[in-house]
Amino acid sequence: MSERQITRDMHRPSEQDEPMHRWSMTIDGETVSELWVATDTGEIMQVETPREHQRQGYAAALYRQAATEITIYHAPASHRTPEGDRFARSVGGDALPCRYGCCTDDEE
Ligand SMILES: [Zn+2]
Repeated sequence: MSERQITRDMHRPSEQDEPMHRWSMTIDGETVSELWVATDTGEIMQVETPREHQRQGYAAALYRQAATEITIYHAPASHRTPEGDRFARSVGGDALPCRYGCCTDDEE
């Protein structure tokens, strides 16, 4: 039996970034997916799943776990990568509107 674990911590994606919430899934100690959420807005900033671990529902499991702990939102539809957009549509849930003034708000 492999051991699947979800852990939550705070982590800086890089030196320049503010710390973010991070939910990580590990299987037998190997990280198979990470979900990063901004602390101020609850916006999902990044979902990372190495290619060999994709299509297993790991990121969706992280999304569901995170959503039970804090209020989280998908990025504005107009700001998503194609992968992020597919993810948001597949797991469902609320998204933030664009707050940066760069998008007309009739998208979606
Ligand atoms: Zn925008």
